[in-house]
Amino acid sequence: MAKGALQPAQASRLNAGRTRVGPDLETVKATLFRSMGIDGVYARTGLYEDVVQALDRYITSKRPNGAEAFRFPPVMSRSMLEKSGYLKSFPNLLGCMCCLPGSEADVRLAIERFEQGGDWTKALETGDLVLTPASCYPIYPIAAERGPVPGKGYVFDVGCDCFRREPSTDLDRLQSFRMREFVRIGSAEQILQFRADWIDRARDMAVALGLPHQIDLASDPFFGRTGPLLAMSQREQALKFELLIPVISETKPTACMSFNYHQSHFGETWDLRDACGTPAHTGCVAFGMDRLALAIFVTHGLETDDWPMAIRDVLGL
Ligand code: AMP
Ligand code: ZN
Repeated sequence: MAKGALQPAQASRLNAGRTRVGPDLETVKATLFRSMGIDGVYARTGLYEDVVQALDRYITSKRPNGAEAFRFPPVMSRSMLEKSGYLKSFPNLLGCMCCLPGSEADVRLAIERFEQGGDWTKALETGDLVLTPASCYPIYPIAAERGPVPGKGYVFDVGCDCFRREPSTDLDRLQSFRMREFVRIGSAEQILQFRADWIDRARDMAVALGLPHQIDLASDPFFGRTGPLLAMSQREQALKFELLIPVISETKPTACMSFNYHQSHFGETWDLRDACGTPAHTGCVAFGMDRLALAIFVTHGLETDDWPMAIRDVLGL
């Protein structure tokens, strides 16, 4: 993830100094998005959505052989996410659904409080749903339901709207964004091979889309005092790589895809085991749809008609 991204004014200056020709970020924002009154949550224009949908089709065209597709809602079971260990790693990023409980009279009381200028939200009660923070979380319990993992393992193609509570004015750091993932479940060797293949394929995709990029070792922004230690251990074990593209800043490029190896974490959590009882290993390649779409506009400009023919061909635009 791109930490400490530049503020718009700084970014514009940086943009002006870029060797490649790119539109000013304020113009990008005004052309592709409309404010919805909250940082990191935007209305998206048709121009932008056409490119997100084209990217979605492009990613589908790269779906691994034998992959089973699922699309998830933007919410998932709170208890399942708790079981996944999310609260240990990123509790600060989680959004949890709450609603007004009780009888009609109870609900009416809360609303009346609001109408009298009071705080209706005091009556809210925590619900059994959270906002899905990454599109692979719901797939592990689904796979585990099937019994022993077959020798050839599983490959899934998943996607959903994701939420992370990280409000920012930076266009590449949203609270609500779209994610596609290919998820592999199997042996350690199968996962590492899958990840290595996907790092190569992702590079090819970035080249086909005309996006300047680099692959780098990465770590997640783990919560709290132990966070830096966990991040260091993740790096030492090379569990996460990212494909970085200069979207807002050349010096702090934006993570647009990630390549993750979870070892046996989800296998043990969900009792996902092979026929001998050995916990499965898992890994995923994640495509940040909104970051990729933004990267394409920043790199090639705001007029899709002016994009190089080869890139329009790749996207079918
Ligand atoms: P991660 O699970 O953090 O590796 O995220 C997977 C991908 O989702 C990243 O590579 C980004 O492209 C995208 N992503 C993560 N956080 C955000 C965010 N706050 N805004 C937009 N895209 C994001
Ligand atoms: Zn994942």
